[in-house]
Formats: sequence, structure tokens, C-alpha cells
Amino acid sequence: MRFAVIHCRNCLRHIWVSEDRLGQRGKCPDCNAPVQTPADWPASQLIEGPHVMHDFAECAPALAENAS
Ligand SMILES: [Zn+2]
Repeated sequence: MRFAVIHCRNCLRHIWVSEDRLGQRGKCPDCNAPVQTPADWPASQLIEGPHVMHDFAECAPALAENAS
């Protein structure tokens, strides 16, 4: 699994977003601020990081349920 590393605009935390979740909206794991991930993240800037799969991945499904 590859990840994009973005920053929370509120608390500046690093957020690891798995490539299959790019373009989705979620929440910052720390401060719960809404986070929009970039859909056009360049593939050359994706990072291998299976050890952090739980980071943004846990937050996105919860927000998707709330949005519907
Ligand atoms: Zn935050």
C-alpha cells in the first residue's frame, strides 16, 4: 500500500492517506477537523508505508456515513 502525506490545516498534523482514499473527505485523527485529500496527488510522491494503514483509513468511513 502506498500513501500520500498531507497536513491538517487546523493542527498541522501529518496525515497518511492510502492511495485508494485519495480524493475522499475525512477527519483529522487528532483534532477532528474536516480534511479533503487531493485526488490528483502525483504517483511519484506516494510513499510505501504499511505500518500506518490505520491512520486516515479509520476516519474516512465514519465521515462517509454521516454525509449520507
Ligand atoms: Zn488536525
